Amino acid sequence: MTQPQVVVIGSGAGGAAFAWALADAGVQVQILEAGPSYNPRKDYLLDTNQWEQQMFPEKVPIAGRQTHAPFQLLEDRWADLRSWNHILGQTVTSDRRSFVTYSHVIGVGGSTLHFTGETHRMNPQSMKMKSRFGVAADWPFDYAELEPYYVEAERIYGIAGPSDPGVRTRSAPYPLPAHELSYASQKLGEGCRKLGLSWMPNSVASLSRAYDRRPPCNYCGNCTRGCPRKDKGSADLTFIAKAVATGNCTVTPGAYVLRLLPGPDDRIRAVVYAGTHGQKRVEADYFAVACGAVETPRLLLNSSPAGSSDGLANESGLLGRNFMETLFWSSSGLHPEPLGSHRGLPSDAICWDFNAPDAIPGVIGGCRLSPSTAESNMVGPVNYARRVVGGWGRSHKASMREQFGHMLSIGGIGENLPDKRSFIDLDPDEKDAFNLPKARIHSHLADMELERLRFIAKTCRRILKASGVPKILEEGGTYDGFMTTHVFGTCRMGTEPKTSVVDDSCRSHRWRNLLVTDASVFPSTGGGESPALTISALALRAARKLMSSMG
Ligand SMILES: Cc1cc2nc3c(=O)[nH]c(=O)nc-3n(C[C@H](O)[C@H](O)[C@H](O)COP(=O)(O)OP(=O)(O)OC[C@H]3O[C@@H](n4cnc5c(N)ncnc54)[C@H](O)[C@@H]3O)c2cc1C
Ligand code: SF4
Repeated sequence: MTQPQVVVIGSGAGGAAFAWALADAGVQVQILEAGPSYNPRKDYLLDTNQWEQQMFPEKVPIAGRQTHAPFQLLEDRWADLRSWNHILGQTVTSDRRSFVTYSHVIGVGGSTLHFTGETHRMNPQSMKMKSRFGVAADWPFDYAELEPYYVEAERIYGIAGPSDPGVRTRSAPYPLPAHELSYASQKLGEGCRKLGLSWMPNSVASLSRAYDRRPPCNYCGNCTRGCPRKDKGSADLTFIAKAVATGNCTVTPGAYVLRLLPGPDDRIRAVVYAGTHGQKRVEADYFAVACGAVETPRLLLNSSPAGSSDGLANESGLLGRNFMETLFWSSSGLHPEPLGSHRGLPSDAICWDFNAPDAIPGVIGGCRLSPSTAESNMVGPVNYARRVVGGWGRSHKASMREQFGHMLSIGGIGENLPDKRSFIDLDPDEKDAFNLPKARIHSHLADMELERLRFIAKTCRRILKASGVPKILEEGGTYDGFMTTHVFGTCRMGTEPKTSVVDDSCRSHRWRNLLVTDASVFPSTGGGESPALTISALALRAARKLMSSMG
């Protein structure tokens, strides 16, 4: 390939959308992606006997790439937030919060390969957390500025969603009608109605009708294991396929970028990556880093300019700071009716009632609630046998017949506010195969976070009860288990160079040919909104802004 104009590092929700917008406008783009490509029909294992025992079939192992500092001690006053199961007891037995994994796929398409497919716009109020509520930071523009890019991202992903926009005003309807709710979700809806709560179809990247030469969803319920039908709009099948089809974009899988090379004139000269044929250097006019909110700061911290050890684009000292994570809870129990809850689109419904930053009494920052049976992995007999149905032999078999498909789960995700004790730095001891320090995760959940989580847990329990579940059998959340489903904030976007890493167009304040186009730039997380759609919309906006400045 001739020298690209723009190099994009990472091909998830952010990198893929950014690359497509440029390639579609005629800019020559090269995507460097550390992981391999996946072929949904061949690589995803839903038609094999082992389907349930395996989660996403990683070709490059995810575990062990990051480290973490010791997490906080668990306290008796939050005992109601411990994870437990009626057969296994407390599932985190240590006296400290434990690390589950940084579960982001390394591959073309990034974590959209195994994402559930929920695709939400931000609540406009959640973009003004500092000026309206005195916490976190404001987004440097408002919802109306992002709205046209949301429309565009929804069109490319093929989002199915409800016609009622609520507070998220829309200039165009979703490209596809909402999915019908599964029977299990309808049961949860009955519970919500009894409590005076709303319950509506969720907006998702799984097709409710054939669209863009992809078939509709068959409701198998296993999106996090990889969708072999290709109806789930992962970034590889949507943005990347379209970018490559323009003829202006090449994707180099297996290209693990080791460092960016800054020049003396405040411009990045090149990147160095390790690929199948050894180490290579690629020069370009512009460079966009989109490795996710943990690996992006790591790459920049590992790319210090000459004479500095502070990292690249760290003039504010905030690179890696303001790390925000997933605040999650789920409660589950057996419903007396056979619900067939093992099938159906995951998270097909949603309650937005507590999503606004001031909607939860006594705390700042909202949450949302959705069915979580699939997220809790209650979709097959092996998990029923291990976690729901006790006993052995005949009695176990009999109970299994009676109980399979009855499990009903509801979960919530909440805002996570930045905290000085939550950040990413370089591990002083652990290195990767190229002798580069690994990212080290520091995380602390302050009392306000745990009060919000407690509200989510209590509301989940109330909804389950009102939906007809007599007894809860399993609960779990992020108080005692650190999870990284959604990560944000480590290269904060803002107008002031002193208080942010990139400007409102996602460009470094100092290194003007360097951009960050992933969730690292989020100034705040939102009240439980799933981030992939916003990441892509932001990346589309960053690409358009870059093109105007390129002329
Ligand atoms: C199980 C699960 C379910 C989820 N469900 C949802 C959902 O329903 N809705 C939603 O909105 N979000 C969901 N998420 C989160 C969502 O997937 C992520 O927020 C989103 O994909 C992040 O996009 P990104 O571009 O920031 O990073 P990623 O998608 O993580 O992409 C980063 C890419 O960079 C590559 N990379 C990293 N380092 C390097 C390097 N040095 N050189 C080259 N390449 C590199 C990685 O291999 C990867 O492909 C889910 C996440 C998980 C784990
Ligand atoms: S539920 Fe639908 S989108 Fe998810 S894996 Fe199955 S077919 Fe694909």
